[in-house]
Amino acid sequence: MASPHDIQTNDTNSAIINEIQELKKELGQQIIMPAHHYQKPEVVAVSDFVGDSYKLSKEGAAASARFIVFCGVRFMAESAAILAAPGQTVLIPDPVAGCPMADMIDAAQAEAILDKLDALTGQAVAPLTYMNSYADMKALTGRRGGAICTSSNAAKLLNHYLDAGKPVFFGPDFNLGINVANDLGIDRKRIFRVRKDGALECMESVTDSVKTPNPSQGLLFIWDGFCHVHKTFKVDQIQAARSRNPEVQVIVHPESDEAVVQAADSSGSTEGIYKTVAAGTPGSSWVVGTEASFVHRLAAEYPDRSIVPLRESYCFNMARITLDNVLASLRSIKAHLADPLRPLYHIVSVDPAVKADAALALNRMIDIVEGRAGGAKH
Ligand code: SF4
Repeated sequence: MASPHDIQTNDTNSAIINEIQELKKELGQQIIMPAHHYQKPEVVAVSDFVGDSYKLSKEGAAASARFIVFCGVRFMAESAAILAAPGQTVLIPDPVAGCPMADMIDAAQAEAILDKLDALTGQAVAPLTYMNSYADMKALTGRRGGAICTSSNAAKLLNHYLDAGKPVFFGPDFNLGINVANDLGIDRKRIFRVRKDGALECMESVTDSVKTPNPSQGLLFIWDGFCHVHKTFKVDQIQAARSRNPEVQVIVHPESDEAVVQAADSSGSTEGIYKTVAAGTPGSSWVVGTEASFVHRLAAEYPDRSIVPLRESYCFNMARITLDNVLASLRSIKAHLADPLRPLYHIVSVDPAVKADAALALNRMIDIVEGRAGGAKH
């Protein structure tokens, strides 16, 4: 059975790739085409650069092209639209490419939780929102003094707010929140899972020696969302990989369950995994717990080492971007330039009021990560 990582090298695909390359040449500096690491290899191959969501948002913001054809899911393209300069237009080849995790929280839910946590702790709790969220969540984060983070910088951002003496509400991914908290050694008695009904559940189990934890003393409140692609990884898969090859190095993404991250040899963002495996020695063996299209691409790039997915787990939203719809986007740009009445496929637009607040939260992330002065203002 074909899997999403298989490159179709038939004549039709070659013709589509040729037309994409011709259109890109013709449109020149007017377009840029970033692609997320989880895109199909043939889409990555025709893109201008590939990266994780932090790299894409930063480099996308720096691009001066008039059209950004974003090969990724909608929240990523939205982030590019939020950071876009006046006159820049962001297109997504398939507007249906969503993210179930981003759908797990919205601004109204988060606002209600933040109000409750502010009252409980007696402080303004800072929202720290994962990039994998929609514009309304990003805007709320900006308005309430918080920042966006990605898996590559969540620890730095969380430290930033805790060092400033602020409790943090992290969402939507529970696993990233708890795994980062573990890396930072945050006391589990002060970490609470926030259930969808608003109930708070302490991460330290109550025993004779541990009194019922008090949420008013909470440092970190983590929303109960998850990524179904990373949720499928289990500790017994790691054990099975090690029994097949005791020398194997297991590296997983921090959207995986806490027990899986702890059982692995290391964990890292997609970009971090890429760099770690790329720095490995020829002949080394890797089992990688993240989206399988990415793992297979990595294996094709480094044929001198063994690189296999922990499990064949795919993001079918990412796979919605295809050579066909990329070509349709590029054709629409050409047609639109010739006749502005012709529609562009497909514009990603963000309400201007939402955009300003969301940009604040995204730029705070970049400022804090890059050590720019603006990061201190929140
Ligand atoms: S891999 Fe998970 S978090 Fe990323 S877009 Fe797919 S569903 Fe969303």
